[in-house]
Amino acid sequence: MSEQLIQAEQLMQQARRSLAATEKALNTAIKSLREHTLVDGRVSASKLDDYQLVSYDTALSAAEAAGAWFVLDYAERVRDQGDPSGPIMLEERCALLFTAEAIESIRARLELRPQDYGLTRDMLAKTLDSESLQAFCSEQLAVERMAELGKTIADMDGRSGAYLLDDDHEMMRDTFRRFANDVVMPLAEDIHREDLIIPDEILDGLTELGCFGLSIPERFGGLQADDQEDNMGMIVVTEELSRGSLGAAGSLITRPEILTRALLKGGTEEQKLKWLPRLAEADPLCAVAVTEPNYGSDVAGMRCKASRTEGGWLIDGAKTWCTFGGKAGVLLLLARTDPDLAKGHKGLSMFLVEKPSTDGHEFKHEQEGGGVITGKAISTIGYRGMHSYDVFFDNYFVPEENLLGGPNGEGKGFYFTMAGFAGGRIQTAARAVGLMQAAFERAVSYADERQVFGNSINKYQLTQVKLARLAAYLLASRQFTYSVGRLMDQGKGEMEASMVKFFTCKTAEWVTREAQQIHGGMGYAEEMPVSRYFLDARVLSIFEGVEEILALKVIARALIDRAGEADA
Ligand SMILES: Cc1cc2nc3c(=O)[nH]c(=O)nc-3n(C[C@H](O)[C@H](O)[C@H](O)COP(=O)(O)OP(=O)(O)OC[C@H]3O[C@@H](n4cnc5c(N)ncnc54)[C@H](O)[C@@H]3O)c2cc1C
Repeated sequence: MSEQLIQAEQLMQQARRSLAATEKALNTAIKSLREHTLVDGRVSASKLDDYQLVSYDTALSAAEAAGAWFVLDYAERVRDQGDPSGPIMLEERCALLFTAEAIESIRARLELRPQDYGLTRDMLAKTLDSESLQAFCSEQLAVERMAELGKTIADMDGRSGAYLLDDDHEMMRDTFRRFANDVVMPLAEDIHREDLIIPDEILDGLTELGCFGLSIPERFGGLQADDQEDNMGMIVVTEELSRGSLGAAGSLITRPEILTRALLKGGTEEQKLKWLPRLAEADPLCAVAVTEPNYGSDVAGMRCKASRTEGGWLIDGAKTWCTFGGKAGVLLLLARTDPDLAKGHKGLSMFLVEKPSTDGHEFKHEQEGGGVITGKAISTIGYRGMHSYDVFFDNYFVPEENLLGGPNGEGKGFYFTMAGFAGGRIQTAARAVGLMQAAFERAVSYADERQVFGNSINKYQLTQVKLARLAAYLLASRQFTYSVGRLMDQGKGEMEASMVKFFTCKTAEWVTREAQQIHGGMGYAEEMPVSRYFLDARVLSIFEGVEEILALKVIARALIDRAGEADA
């Protein structure tokens, strides 16, 4: 075995041992959280609220650790497929750097208030404070090593490692990358600055490429095999389109993805046959109307009501943030069908609400029977192209056949919504990755072009370290997303989908911020796409599961439950 290979192998083993030690401390924290919050064998929501900070930090730490495991596995696969006896590879260097950073960030959180995590000094000495773990982190985070990696990255034209996709997905990636370069990017700036609706050029091109049918099984007119989910296809396409523009292209599949999952979970056979082939053709386009002015995170409290009438239902109430609600010809609406508020989420049902498609910032449609739907776009700082509307329903009629699941679907709307949003999370992680890639490419090229004090800024150590870190986080985010996508293809990975959404969206804010910072004053100029990336990135942690609720009510809860299963 060559000396170089031994060194690479040793480093990877050191990384795994250090990560395992970190996870040991983390597991102790989760067990302690479980002990504090368990009442009669179940996690108590009110008890959990007494431990919000610990829960949030534990969820974030667990997400970082999961990301590090996935990226280490990926680096090993890259070596297996490359030159098994060659020198340490770029992907391995990025994976090692990310792992060391993840460990240090977990350590900082847990050691800030060890007593709140149930961690003793003795436990810390054996795990996060152990000599071997600290030696690994200091070596990987040494300035010289990071700057060296940054120098390599600076010469790589915005690449940061192999994608490791199979041929089919590589072909999809290539097709949609070209579409993003040729069609989306030239239009993206105007759409953002003029707050325009996505033009037909983009919509028609993507319809032709089958984009809207990506999550729809073949038997219903989509591109997905009937017996196998293809999350990877959806991820790769979303990533490439989001690299072109988050608002003008990258988010177009989110809505059909949510609608499809809700329909597949709860729709009658007739509803699936009627709607899925049409959604695959983007005829009509669709939107999701769940959030209300007073109820966002607290879905169970929603008030928009549906009352029985002859042949269907009458909708009354307000929804907000209904993205693409103007252009859409059908809205997936969550409404209260049982007026008894004590029923909470069990009183909610889901409807497919038809309306005419319009382009403007405002719309109004009156039905023959007198029902009215109106919408007004909310001005936003970014994520432009689809317009997000306040929508009001006044006695708006929806026929019986549009209650999702038919009579059996009454009261099940909350569960159908959750099924829909599960796909939205991994999809949003892919959106974050695409946006990061766009920002990273701009950062790398500007750092090369811009001369300051007689040198390109990528010749300075601080920029090199920045580029190394950006590359490592981008690579980790991508591979974390791909790994969870593969798990989801096997019917697993529900909690990991929340983790990867949480982690990548937070990371995208930092990556786009750093890319903007590398541009100095020009990063603040509207004419530079990098200023848009930062604004767009902010929304990622807010929608498709606001990060605090994902951390507290989904990830922390699932971690506690898993700890219980492991003990049983
Ligand atoms: C650009 C954009 C597009 C959107 N598109 C859509 C769409 O197409 N369809 C749709 O239905 N919705 C959409 N949304 C809405 C989005 O999903 C909600 O904004 C999100 O769910 C948060 O709800 P909220 O705004 O009511 O925040 P709130 O629920 O009011 O939360 C406010 C803050 O309080 C925190 N918080 C809430 N509860 C707790 C708690 N128990 N403990 C601690 N902290 C808490 C939250 O994390 C958040 O930081 C969109 C939003 C935006 C900004």
